[in-house]
Amino acid sequence: MSNHIPTFQYKISLGQNFLFDQDLLHRLVDQTQVGEEDIVLEIGAGRGDLTQALSQRCSRVIAVEIDERLEPVLKERFASTSNVTIVMGDIMNLDIAALMGESSSFHIVANLPYYLTTPILTKLFHLNLPIKSVNVMVQKEAAQRVMAQPGTPEYGPLAVLAALRGMPKATLLVPARLFTPPPKVDSIFLVIPFFDTPQVSVKEPGLFYKVLGAAFQMRRKTLANNLVSVFGMPREDANRLITACGLDERVRGERLGLDNFARLTQVIHKYITQQTKP
Ligand code: SAM
Repeated sequence: MSNHIPTFQYKISLGQNFLFDQDLLHRLVDQTQVGEEDIVLEIGAGRGDLTQALSQRCSRVIAVEIDERLEPVLKERFASTSNVTIVMGDIMNLDIAALMGESSSFHIVANLPYYLTTPILTKLFHLNLPIKSVNVMVQKEAAQRVMAQPGTPEYGPLAVLAALRGMPKATLLVPARLFTPPPKVDSIFLVIPFFDTPQVSVKEPGLFYKVLGAAFQMRRKTLANNLVSVFGMPREDANRLITACGLDERVRGERLGLDNFARLTQVIHKYITQQTKP
């Protein structure tokens, strides 16, 4: 197959930077833990080159693509490939649980549309589904944000959520020139094997995400300031809750690790429950 669809106009607004190098595509699949028995959800099938490489290496691929111009290309290409299902739609609006049906567990693989990297990863990290691993091509800077450690400028909610769900690892560095058309920056293929259960126990997930949002709301402000503004609590209460977690009351949110966030969620939950008691 040629490297181009002759009349196809790549939509940069949809993050269409395709990969055609078959050797590279198989090397990407090699980095994943996808095995012959596994089911894969692919996000952003494009012209289906990664879909095809995956279909040769696993039991079933469900490939989602938003661009309707690619529907006939994908349908024709996989018409006689029984283990590939093409789903046209926006991954941000699709119900992934319904899409994956009875699958006991599955992997996610994607050369992500870069404009949606953070929303897609955030959605995947929130899912309470039996995901075995997330394997995604992302811009180098996005990979650094996912793998960031507390106290670094790249550290934020994405790194905390990634650490909650799995162990992110940068595998291949993929130069921009290998994409069609080439993006502005180089990319990294990030592999995140998921834990069977999240790394720390989060009994109140909704509150945990709210605490996370609060901690990074204004990065230059202290955690106490952000808790006051997001939860509307008096400053002395915010200070007391922070020190109850063994933290300095002047700490900034970006210093907190996963355990700190889990503990802070617990004490805030207890505080809110007491406040709302009749
Ligand atoms: N998998 C192909 C490859 O590796 O060559 C294409 C990858 S390209 C970086 C990203 C693909 O995601 C594009 O085909 C784009 O149309 C699709 N896409 C963009 N936004 C999407 C969304 N919200 N839901 C599903 N697919 C989307």
